[in-house]
Amino acid sequence: MKDCIFCKIINKEIPSDIVYEDEKVVAFRDLEPQAPVHLLIVPKTHIASLNDVEPKDLETMGWLLTKVKEIAASQNLANGYRLVCNTGEDALQTVKHIHFHLLGRRLMQWPPG
Ligand code: 5GP
Ligand code: ZN
Repeated sequence: MKDCIFCKIINKEIPSDIVYEDEKVVAFRDLEPQAPVHLLIVPKTHIASLNDVEPKDLETMGWLLTKVKEIAASQNLANGYRLVCNTGEDALQTVKHIHFHLLGRRLMQWPPG
């Protein structure tokens, strides 16, 4: 989608540090990492948020979830990791292209702030 920063990353119109890519999914390093490993895992299809996931997205979103463990393993996260999908205003979603933060290599806190 035009003017979507993550679509631009997916289309290589702006640079990013991509650590995984296939026909449906891209994972790249967050610009402002909140943990030693902080990736953003995104579908190549533009979906604005979890609130916009429809049955037609089943294959893409299901595929994405099967890739999480592989991407985590590639980052040496055998000790665990956190997957976060900020959705909407209260959750402080700033980029309106659905993305999963993959955070790891430090002890997380619960509850999150
Ligand atoms: P949100 O707050 O929407 O859940 O997360 C958006 C994330 O995207 C933030 O962690 C932010 O640092 C990251 N981000 C925003 N713009 C860019 C960019 O141009 N490149 C990369 N790699 N990350 C970005
Ligand atoms: Zn997009």
